Amino acid sequence: MTPRQPPGPALVTGGNGYVASWLVKRLLEHSFDVHATVRDPHDPRKTAHLTALAHDCPGTLSLFRADLLDPAAFDHPMADCSLVFHTASPLIVRDVEDPLRDLIEPATAGTRNVLEAANRTPSVRRVVLTSSITAIYGDAADLEQLDTDRFDESHWNATSRDDHQPYSYSKTLSERLAWEIAEKQSRWDMVAVNPGLVLGPGLSPHTRAEGVLMMLDFGNGYYRFGAPELEFAIVDVRDVAEGHLRAALTPEASGRHILVSESMTLVEMGKVLRGHFGGDFPFPHKAVSNLAALMLAPRRGIPQAVARRNLGYPLRFDNTRSRTALGMTYRPAAESIVDHFQQLLDAGLVGPPARK
Ligand code: NAP
Repeated sequence: MTPRQPPGPALVTGGNGYVASWLVKRLLEHSFDVHATVRDPHDPRKTAHLTALAHDCPGTLSLFRADLLDPAAFDHPMADCSLVFHTASPLIVRDVEDPLRDLIEPATAGTRNVLEAANRTPSVRRVVLTSSITAIYGDAADLEQLDTDRFDESHWNATSRDDHQPYSYSKTLSERLAWEIAEKQSRWDMVAVNPGLVLGPGLSPHTRAEGVLMMLDFGNGYYRFGAPELEFAIVDVRDVAEGHLRAALTPEASGRHILVSESMTLVEMGKVLRGHFGGDFPFPHKAVSNLAALMLAPRRGIPQAVARRNLGYPLRFDNTRSRTALGMTYRPAAESIVDHFQQLLDAGLVGPPARK
């Protein structure tokens, strides 16, 4: 989407994240003055890629320090902004130490703090909330309770709790809270985007988002003897940035939007990688039995209760709404997977194929 004249500065919370960095890039390319909040603006590992981007683009970038837990942190960065993209939220799926402290509190308090700052900032007209498909479903097994073969925007995650899929619970609670706050006022409107598993090349070499960890597993041989029978609803990080932009700049946009290209199992992803990079890498050829996968899950920081409700279940989403209401088109998942692995290869994060 090519925006007309930017409607004023845009705030991006968590501007250094995997997803947000691509959004910041797109906004800068379209001449926006971007106010990006980060936890530490002086940490070059977190911000150098953003300042480099700003050098090459017509827009301007200002970095602000803000922690989600600080109720006053967002007023100054949000001043004069008409658009607010709230992307910052902790993303930890494996080995969660303290779900309340590490996920639920920062996600919900952060959403409240950002949206209450929007209530105090007269220039704000639209908030784009980065939610997730995890606010739509909890486990793939949830689909069995529905009268349909795929999830859509009318569904809400009703099965996650602080002791079962706490990341998904944090996203569900924060999206619900965001709608509650949005509906109590009328100066700004809110549009939610709900991306699936985000893959594709990152802009920072230090990104360690969940999708990056998954791609590393393909390279480091974790699935050499087979992969669990798990399906993922994939979307490219560049398309997620596009979805945010369209959610912000489509005047009539409203409600939730699933951002998903297509679903693939780990074995199907392995097949795509083998087709492109050849057979010498340790990509999976087959699925391991669900029993074996269940036994191995805790070693990966995945509780067995979670594995039991996801192994072997299909996971499908209807992306019609984002295609019709926002005009989204999606890269095939294979392109995201190949581009992402190529980036890890180029960066030396996964090794070259073993020589026979
Ligand atoms: P990411 O790279 O880990 O980005 C998360 C961002 O949130 C980072 O900027 C992080 O800052 C910030 N953050 C975390 N805790 C914070 C706190 N207490 N105070 C201030 N900032 C904090 O992950 P991502 O994949 O880009 O995720 C961005 C958004 O997309 C999240 O809302 C996530 O739930 C959503 N999402 C992601 C996926 C996916 O597959 N990646 C799928 C669906 C939805 P630091 O760099 O300082 O930690």
